[in-house]
Amino acid sequence: MIPIAVPHQDRPKSIVRRTPFPDSGTPPLVPPIVPSAVFIARDADHMNDVYEGRDRGFTYAREGSPNAELLAAKIAALEGADAALITSSGMSAIAAIFLGLLKAGDHIVASDALYGRTSRLATQDLPRLGFSTDLVDATNVAAVERAMRPATKLILVEVVSNPLLRVVDVAALARVASAHGAHLIVDNTFPTPLALQPLTLGAHVVFHSITKMLAGHSDVTLGAVCASRELIAPIRDVVVTWGLTASAFDCWLAERGMNTLELRVTRAAASAAALADALAAHPAVHRVFYPGRTDHPDHETATRLFGRQFGNMVTFELNGGRDAVNRFMRALETIPFAPTLGDVATIISHPAVTSHRGLTAEARDALGIREGTIRVSVGVEEFSALADEFRAALDALG
Ligand SMILES: *Cc1c(COP(=O)(O)O)cnc(C)c1O
Repeated sequence: MIPIAVPHQDRPKSIVRRTPFPDSGTPPLVPPIVPSAVFIARDADHMNDVYEGRDRGFTYAREGSPNAELLAAKIAALEGADAALITSSGMSAIAAIFLGLLKAGDHIVASDALYGRTSRLATQDLPRLGFSTDLVDATNVAAVERAMRPATKLILVEVVSNPLLRVVDVAALARVASAHGAHLIVDNTFPTPLALQPLTLGAHVVFHSITKMLAGHSDVTLGAVCASRELIAPIRDVVVTWGLTASAFDCWLAERGMNTLELRVTRAAASAAALADALAAHPAVHRVFYPGRTDHPDHETATRLFGRQFGNMVTFELNGGRDAVNRFMRALETIPFAPTLGDVATIISHPAVTSHRGLTAEARDALGIREGTIRVSVGVEEFSALADEFRAALDALG
């Protein structure tokens, strides 16, 4: 084996001087991480061509960088999108969509079952900037239609809501948006693009918290926005100008994690379906929410959207409220209580003290979230080990 040619260096005049990266005819199998905050142009004309899009390349990492582009291309392909953009978190993705597509005075119709921070952004932060939001039950298309006003520019929904896993009719909502000259914005984090491609059903913009199932290992915080080139352009400008750019290392980790996305999604969904049935059969469990079960209120919509794979999230309500929840959590041997989802390992969460802690008990009750409600993000463990651990902890409740 002939070692690659590292360019000969004279004794440097200064050790600060950067030396060229070794050029080799055998490219690495794994994409390199490029943490460089800046890129070098030959001359002023070259830099100008890159800025004007006549030449391929990068200028300054806040404006775009190789690892982010690689990850964006992978997600765009899965979503069937013309273009995608990576942001520093799921929240910065939705913030960039709002800031890129709205102006003061515009109105949003949003689901009343959004991720907690998205809901806060829409109802508390946006009004300070002159946008207004009405929350509606987005599983009720007629209610969404009634909430539309001449100033409505966006309808914002999650395909599958947290934690009760309500499923919206994406195609019907897209028709409502288009009929009113508005855009349907879809958070596709829970289904992942393997289960659903909202753009193919008429949605205008799709976004993700890559932090969850796409990256899959709870070690990055990232977001993605997918749309037509025309709609991505103003959102990209916001990301660059407001500085919502993602780190190269996070993009690299997420792209690496996505190699196993299909395996993880398939395995976890199969286990989730079996766990939902096992939970429903246990006397300590009051109720189970899983869109794949015929007793779920949106089973029909979910079947139309997803076919036969209903995702890795299962929610259930224990008899006995908070006390039973605490005892159940302590009785679990390896499954942690940690407020995220989409990890390779199974994780449980308690919406009343995490995602929905900002609501009053009455408001939670109105949504159907009780002290006994537990959300499970099912991982890729062997199902028998998972089922045994749940059964033992439920049995311990007596
Ligand atoms: C986690 C999450 C977000 C926010 O994403 P971050 O990466 O935590 O900023 C938005 N929507 C849904 C459905 C989520 O689960």
